[in-house]
Parts: sequence; structure tokens; C-alpha cells
Amino acid sequence: MRNVLYGKCVKCGKTYAATPDLTTCECGGILDITYDYDYIKTQLTKEKLAQRQERTMWRYRELLPIEESTEPTPLRVGWSPLYEEQRLADQLGLKKLWVKDDGQNPTASLKDRASAMAVAKAREAGAKVIACSSTGNAASSLAGNAAAAGLKTYIFVPSRAPKGKVAQLMTFGATVISVQGSYEDTFELSKAAIDKWGWYNRNAAINPYLSEGKKTVSLEIMEQLNWEVPDYIAISVGDGCTIAGLWKGLKDLHAIGFIDRLPRLISAQAGGCCPINRAIAENQPWHPMEENTLADSIAVGVPRNADKALMAIRESNGIVVNVSDEEIMAAQQLLGRTCGVFGEPAGVTGTAGVKKLCEQGVIGKDDTVVSVVTGNGLKDVANAIKAAGEPISIPSDMELLLKAFAEAGIVVE
Ligand SMILES: *Cc1c(COP(=O)(O)O)cnc(C)c1O
Ligand SMILES: [Zn+2]
Repeated sequence: MRNVLYGKCVKCGKTYAATPDLTTCECGGILDITYDYDYIKTQLTKEKLAQRQERTMWRYRELLPIEESTEPTPLRVGWSPLYEEQRLADQLGLKKLWVKDDGQNPTASLKDRASAMAVAKAREAGAKVIACSSTGNAASSLAGNAAAAGLKTYIFVPSRAPKGKVAQLMTFGATVISVQGSYEDTFELSKAAIDKWGWYNRNAAINPYLSEGKKTVSLEIMEQLNWEVPDYIAISVGDGCTIAGLWKGLKDLHAIGFIDRLPRLISAQAGGCCPINRAIAENQPWHPMEENTLADSIAVGVPRNADKALMAIRESNGIVVNVSDEEIMAAQQLLGRTCGVFGEPAGVTGTAGVKKLCEQGVIGKDDTVVSVVTGNGLKDVANAIKAAGEPISIPSDMELLLKAFAEAGIVVE
């Protein structure tokens, strides 16, 4: 990889050759893939990019840690739509708002970007088996992307994982271990099993390539905005790998001169599980929390990428915002009704945070904001129905329809 220098420990600064099976530093710190931007500048220009036909995350390969000979993975990952939502912006009192619907990835979450990267690196490593632990979406995206590439998967999920995600896992042919315990318990068992059998490790806590896959979300946002930098980008945060990847992509673009400034990050967490936001708000190291929210994908009491996430939020002069489960459900409705975008609870938590910051007057009429929806609402049907309510249920009878409309106060136009 001519474009990559090494993996560098975010704690102690020690560097490691960027082999495909790179894990963590001997000090326990996570590694950050470091690039040769001078070289990349000679290889990639905005004009060259604009002419490229490939509408997937692999269109940015000069900025990605893969060998030149590595084939793109089979599923179409990335290049999700960025919608300009002026009505919602007006409603919230913002100058401009865009919604990036990453629920439109092949397995319906942003995690496909990391899993496609894991599959590409596993192939480079010559591995036949990949494993991970996950709150659900990392698992389902790994299972799907690996199935398409002909690799076998072992997947550990906490028993609370929603049925939609487990159905994906089983359909994609993963060997699924549903762990009776917290996400932390799930992670520990997966780690022990991976150590024992030597599988390729797709745990975001360990594998430094995953946030490089996730960073393609911000590369796309900026290209879709024609390199005009918004004031804020909002995203939900669990383990911390996603927001760290988002920030990495922005810094890459800044380093190669594609953008002239950097946006501020908005880190949205659930009030019932917000160790990263609490650490920022109190300017303290992070401490574990209970996993107390219906937004299962961000119910991470012990974030494994906290160091990278905290650095990203601080470096960007970011804002942290915690939202309640009620506010998450309200944002799910708002996005559905105003934009036609259906996100899972963790998927809409960033938008819930934007709404709250508007109401608090922290951001407002002079600000431009991108809100990333990170996962599709069909993954968690039970909570969607809880938020949206039940339909009118009657036999096939016109009289009963009229009666039901009258009772519900519906005036037909
Ligand atoms: C995983 C996930 C997140 C958060 O990403 P982290 O890397 O855990 O911070 C947010 N939303 C959805 C839908 C996810 O699956
Ligand atoms: Zn180290």
C-alpha cells in the first residue's frame, strides 16, 4: 500500500507495519492508520474523482488502506443519498439541513462500510473465517458482506438484539451465538473465541481498518455537497468507531486540500447510556455506564473506541447532546413524516440531537447541518410500532370505515 505509512497507537505513538491482520498496540491502545498525503495528492484530484463511474465506497480507494490489487467487495456499499431537507430545516429553524440516509446500504446500516473493509482485509490476509461481536448491525453487515464474498462468519450478539437483525444473520448463514448478558459480556466471549481459533477479527475495538471504511461516509457527504463544508455534522455514538471514522474522512480531505475548513461534530447519545458524552461534558476520562436505552445499536456501556471518539469530538470543537428514548421516537416520526426516511432508533438519534440543540438555541438560523441516519427502521419493527402506533383495524365494510374515520376525527379531503 503505497498510500499508507503505518498504524500508529493513539495512546503511546508507537508505529506498526500496516499488515492486513493488524490489531492493537502492545500498550493496549488502538491504532490509527496513517497516510502519506503528499503521495495521495499526486494520485487523486477532484476532477479525476468527478469522472469516476463507480458509485460505491471504493471510489475513494486512493484514501483507503487496501492494496491496489484488492478487488472491491461484491455488495454495493456506500454512495447513499444525501437529501436536502428544506422543510425540516425551516421547521427546526436551521438555515440548511441535509439528511444522509445510510440505511440504504445493502444490509441497511452504515456498518456495511466497515464490514466491506473487513472482508477486503480478510481476503488480503488469506483468511477464510471472520468473527465479531456486535450490538446487531456490525454483525448483520458482516454476515451479508462475508456471504457475498464466500467467507464463513461466527457472530456474537447480546440476547437483546432485535429480531430483524437476528433474522438477517440467520439468512446470511452466519453461525450465531446469542449471549445472555450485556454487550460487554458478548464482546469478552467473542474475544476469547477469536484468540482460541485465530479467526479474522472484525471487532471495531481491535481492527484499525474498520473506521477507515466508515470514513467513506464523510468523503461522500463532502463530494455530494460539492466540497462546501457544512457547519455541523451530527451522528449517533455508541462504541465511538463511527464518529471517529467520520472525523478521519474529513481530516483526510483537509490534508489533501479538497476542503478548506472542518465542520464541528455533534455527538448524539441516549441519556440512558452516554459515557462518551459525559466524559466530554465533565472533561473527565470516560467511565462505564448502564446500557439503558431502546436504541440498541448505541447501547454500549463500555465503549472500545472511546479514545478515538473523544479525540474527534474535542479536535472538532464538537457539541455533545443526550436525548431520551421519547425524543428518539419523536425524531423517528419526524423524519418519517417530513422526509420519508425511516430510521431505526439509533439511526435517528443524531437527528433527535439536532432537534434538541435547535430547541435549546445552541444551533440555529445561521447554521448548516448534515444529519446522518445510520440504520434503517425495518431492523427494529417493534420499537417503530411503539413510536408510530397501530393502524385502524376494521372488517371490509364502508359503514365501518366511515364510523372509524368519525371516531378518529379524520376529515377526508
Ligand atoms: C453501530 C451503530 C451506531 C454507532 O456506531 P459506533 O461505532 O458504535 O459509535 C449508530 N447507529 C447505528 C444504526 C449503528 O448500527
Ligand atoms: Zn501504544
